[in-house]
Amino acid sequence: MVTDPIRLVISSGFSSFVPINSWKRGGLALSLWKRKFSERIICESETKTSREELLAVVGGGAAGVYGAIRAKTVAPDLSVVIIEKGKPLSKVKVSGGGRCNVTNGHCADNMILAENYPRGHKEFRGSFFHLHGPVDTMSWFSSHGVELKTEGDGRVFPVSNSSSSIIDCLMSQVKQKGVSMQTRKAVTSVSIANNGKFLLNVQQQLADNDERVEADYLLIATGCSRQGYALASQLGHTIIDPVPSLFTFKIEDSQLTELAGISFTKVKVRLKLDNVQRNIPQLTQVGSMLVTHWGLSGPAVLRLSAWGARYLFSSGYKGKLIIDFTPDLHEENVKSILSHHKHQFAKQKVYNSYPFDFGISKRFWCYVLNRQGFGGDILWASMSNNSLISIASILKHCTFEVAGKGQFKEEFVTAGGVSLSEISLNTMESKICPRLFFAGEVLNVDGITGGFNFQNAWSGGYIAGTTIGRLAHPILDHPA
Ligand SMILES: Cc1cc2nc3c(=O)[nH]c(=O)nc-3n(C[C@H](O)[C@H](O)[C@H](O)COP(=O)(O)OP(=O)(O)OC[C@H]3O[C@@H](n4cnc5c(N)ncnc54)[C@H](O)[C@@H]3O)c2cc1C
Repeated sequence: MVTDPIRLVISSGFSSFVPINSWKRGGLALSLWKRKFSERIICESETKTSREELLAVVGGGAAGVYGAIRAKTVAPDLSVVIIEKGKPLSKVKVSGGGRCNVTNGHCADNMILAENYPRGHKEFRGSFFHLHGPVDTMSWFSSHGVELKTEGDGRVFPVSNSSSSIIDCLMSQVKQKGVSMQTRKAVTSVSIANNGKFLLNVQQQLADNDERVEADYLLIATGCSRQGYALASQLGHTIIDPVPSLFTFKIEDSQLTELAGISFTKVKVRLKLDNVQRNIPQLTQVGSMLVTHWGLSGPAVLRLSAWGARYLFSSGYKGKLIIDFTPDLHEENVKSILSHHKHQFAKQKVYNSYPFDFGISKRFWCYVLNRQGFGGDILWASMSNNSLISIASILKHCTFEVAGKGQFKEEFVTAGGVSLSEISLNTMESKICPRLFFAGEVLNVDGITGGFNFQNAWSGGYIAGTTIGRLAHPILDHPA
């Protein structure tokens, strides 16, 4: 079918037909053509025995496995090996409290979806989710036998409420498509051989000798592993310093932490840091909040930790949280509600009676009174106007000193990684090194809680797999 390699075209659903020589690959069109039809591919691992090309995927997490399956679906003749240093899909297993929050079903508009990524929000306004977004992920899992449900807040889980459903589905696809899964093997270094291929050094657990794998395409999907960042730098990429994202705040206030377990449906939380002078809208969040044994957690707080991740890192995780516990009421309304309550319940103790309009628990109301120094026996009748003003003020601007970063076991991600400016997000290919691809958390991308982090992994894996499959099989009709 293809007679002139220079005029070889790749069937690309991304932007109709893309001439291969317009991908700024220099001699790649010719070398791909030659490799495909005349060269014998040599591979030292057992994963490859024919003239077929090899895709090596480093990392058997969500991005790597999804990408490998997709590449093999598009190019069934392509040999695909996943090299995983531990167990495949181990984060999927523990994710979402064992239920796996696969994606988020409340963001039909890709521009709004992109706003959920503190790192990535500008870049993701483009083609990324258009090529494979939450709806595509949900239909992929549904069409491969996993029934999904969307909860009230948009989080999508398997109906089984078990991450095993996701793992079983992916692993059965790996097997069915003929992807080779090599576990307990770590890729320790990578270089480019004289023939232009990737030369991987693979260390096997408990084995003396390292293996070497020669691959035509390389997908690095190593999550937040330092080894993965090292591989990317060996191939010329810039790594944005990794720092934690999505964590709770440690608050040293024993009276507050005694309230552990109390939650607030809606608060407005502002993070104030000495090293941030300008107004950053995302450092104010509205949502639910939870008191824990060591401080504060819950969606509003986790979102602040994500948007403030870099500033918090450089401030040594010290700052102030200013919380409005009655965000739907103006301070004047809070005062008049308190004043009205005082006249209605003048003979009752302030500890025993408080306005329901505030939507707070009795234990928290007592915390507010203690914090403002009001004793247990005081009656509403003896509350002065200034006392009411001070209670209203604390309900509207209650300040807590952040003493550090807490532990949050539910979800934790890394901000930082391979710079997005060095990747083409419509192919996931490196702009620095042809035939090198990245997907998932290894990139400088992180999302807030709600399924957004897995969506980055599924989208990136799918786009990379599609591109690689099409490069390996440029003349076939590819499955959608
Ligand atoms: C406890 C927890 C719960 C979470 N829950 C959710 C959730 O419900 N929803 C959500 O959207 N996100 C969740 N996340 C975030 C989500 O798990 C990650 O964003 C996602 O797993 C990233 O996928 P990945 O494939 O890029 O990386 P990973 O899942 O981290 O996979 C990378 C893989 O690469 C392997 N690897 C690394 N280096 C090498 C090497 N040199 N050689 C070979 N293999 C290597 C690792 O062993 C790992 O298996 C959670 C995270 C945690 C920690």
